[in-house]
Amino acid sequence: MSGTLPLLGPDDPAPYRVMQAETDSPFVLVSDHAGRAVPRRLGDLGVSADDWNRHIAWDIGIHGVGVALHRLLGADLIEQVYSRLVIDSNRAPGHPGSIPALSDRTPVTGNIALDAICRARRENEILHPYHDRIAAVLAARRRPTALIALHSFTPCMNGVARPWHVGILHHRDTRSAGIMLDLLRAEGDLCVGDNEPYVLTATSDYTVPYHAEKGGLPYLEIEIRQDLIENEAGQISWARRLARLLPQYWHAVSETT
Ligand SMILES: [Zn+2]
Repeated sequence: MSGTLPLLGPDDPAPYRVMQAETDSPFVLVSDHAGRAVPRRLGDLGVSADDWNRHIAWDIGIHGVGVALHRLLGADLIEQVYSRLVIDSNRAPGHPGSIPALSDRTPVTGNIALDAICRARRENEILHPYHDRIAAVLAARRRPTALIALHSFTPCMNGVARPWHVGILHHRDTRSAGIMLDLLRAEGDLCVGDNEPYVLTATSDYTVPYHAEKGGLPYLEIEIRQDLIENEAGQISWARRLARLLPQYWHAVSETT
């Protein structure tokens, strides 16, 4: 790649997609891993076509859930369009996992030994515009808001099967998560993960610490198992479930905040 050219060319999509709120919903939906676009200048990053279909490239199924939830709730949805293998929008700039050279045992050869200029291009043209847009949407709101971060997780990681249908990740704001955990458990048909399959910390994730915890905004980081939302029926079913539970969650959160 030439030294002065930008990373994104005229044929590449913008780094984020916004679907604007159609109601005065209290929710802002964000989806860090909704897309798997790659800038044309980066080719396939040395990753096979089969691996581009795996969870390492994106959060399988979450785009369909997010769009359906946006429609059902009438809430803003902001999605990252580029693959997490280009740059992971849920990692702080410079984080060791930001531009992974290895993901779930698959080498990403196009990310090995990247120089500072190449890293800065991905940050400046993909990561920062996405987060700047989320910040702008949140700043423009004049009403109580909860940030809802949507993710999906692979049913099997490093050879270990995961039993949870859904998980809620939390760090400082445990009360908000506890309300949603109780609602999900009360559904009766779900194995619910409390900080499973991942634990949220100030440094593991970026979107929630940066946009919500820093400013004391209520948030949920929701992880749905990918085999449940790999087809449209599953995506709609999960969007309907969340669209039913989230207003109950909001009612409980806003009673005491
Ligand atoms: Zn994710």
